Amino acid sequence: PYLRERMSDFDDLANRLLRQLMGRGPDDVAASLPKDAIIVARSMGAAELLDYPRDKLRGLVLEDGAATSHVVIVARAMGIPVAGQMRGAVSMAENGDAIIVDGEEGAIHLRPQPDLEAAYAEKVRFRARRQEVYRELRKKPSVTKDGVQVDLLMNAGLAVDLPQLAEAGAAGIGLFRTELQFMVASTFPRAEAQERLYRDVLDAARGKPVTFRTIDIGGDKVLPYFKDTIQEENPALGWRAIRLTLDRPGLLRTQIRALLKACGGRELKLMLPMVTELGEIAQAREIIDREVRHLSRFAHHLPTSLKLGAMLEVPSLLFQLDELMKAVDFVSVGSNDLFQFVMAVDRGNTQLSDRFDALSTPFLRVLKQIADAGVRNQTSVTLCGELAGKPISAMALIGLGYRSISMSPASIGPVKAMLTELPLAELETFFDDNLMAPAYGLPMRALLQAFADDRSIPL
Ligand code: PEP
Ligand code: MG
Repeated sequence: PYLRERMSDFDDLANRLLRQLMGRGPDDVAASLPKDAIIVARSMGAAELLDYPRDKLRGLVLEDGAATSHVVIVARAMGIPVAGQMRGAVSMAENGDAIIVDGEEGAIHLRPQPDLEAAYAEKVRFRARRQEVYRELRKKPSVTKDGVQVDLLMNAGLAVDLPQLAEAGAAGIGLFRTELQFMVASTFPRAEAQERLYRDVLDAARGKPVTFRTIDIGGDKVLPYFKDTIQEENPALGWRAIRLTLDRPGLLRTQIRALLKACGGRELKLMLPMVTELGEIAQAREIIDREVRHLSRFAHHLPTSLKLGAMLEVPSLLFQLDELMKAVDFVSVGSNDLFQFVMAVDRGNTQLSDRFDALSTPFLRVLKQIADAGVRNQTSVTLCGELAGKPISAMALIGLGYRSISMSPASIGPVKAMLTELPLAELETFFDDNLMAPAYGLPMRALLQAFADDRSIPL
């Protein structure tokens, strides 16, 4: 493993500064990183992970790192096995130690004995055979056992993610996190670089739908070169995402222009992160309209259609669902943030990450209300948080009415294996009987697990 200098007590910014003071900027670190390195660190920001060369990184072990924290999401998207919440890992591991990182189970084995290594080698072979099954599944239609179509899309954010579209057999990109390009850069990416990336994404998608999200920075996604960054007491509730870009419209205008140009002759699906009130959608729409007018004045090739959506992450929108559905072309539920705000639980706090369950009755009722509002208003509703990527929660979402979900590419195989065995009508009856029943019976997760076990649905 590669122990990050044991400097992990400092926050990310201090880490960077220290590295630079010691003459070890990201490039030096990259050069000194051995091949097949596993980083063991107390905590790490998503931007910092992207400083390391992908081709040398074989695993990431974090003492912090909840499943929905951005660094874990980014690591998974890059196909790096990651184990979070590994208390004491930094003090226990020494440089040069062998470590097995089991990203699937979220476990590590430090200095493994030969028999454990052999057992893991067998496990890896078993998983490879299962991957083979998933590859076979790609050719099958994405329908439930009783024939209802569900689109399984993937989340992405960097050019390196694109080959996964075909490999995973995704129906398209349901969430393209445009901020990742900003996070890997050392200065604001120029308009041309943004346009080039968006064009590459659309080319790679070969006509499959792609939903771009306008930059979602702030919170735990800091850009070191963004001079206006402010210290906030509650960054998750702070100056981030659409709040920030509406205050710095130059940033948003440049991105929208790049997107409009890249999508010339094709469809542009654009969504806004962290919408809190409908006025923000109207403001963004004004900026978009102005850019459209500007480009058409200069005879640019415009998108064939423009669909504007909002992410549903802030609970205020739950109390104006019909108005929201009418104000946009589509809604995408960001369950990572929505869960954080509905349950008042920091998505990155490992002390609390197992305490509340997204498959509990109250949160499932929230998700159902959103799906119902979509049907009522004929507005398409999708979900792109981590919840979509676990077979048991994907099953619940489909039972609640979701017909399109977006997840990390590695999840598509397991979710499709569940989908094709799911008798949806029975699950709908299950929810009719259980979802509005008093919430003090058996936990919903246990009931859902039993539902699947009784019907041999692979979860
Ligand atoms: C979410 O909040 O669920 C989401 C998809 O956005 P992000 O994880 O990038 O905050
Ligand atoms: Mg979010």
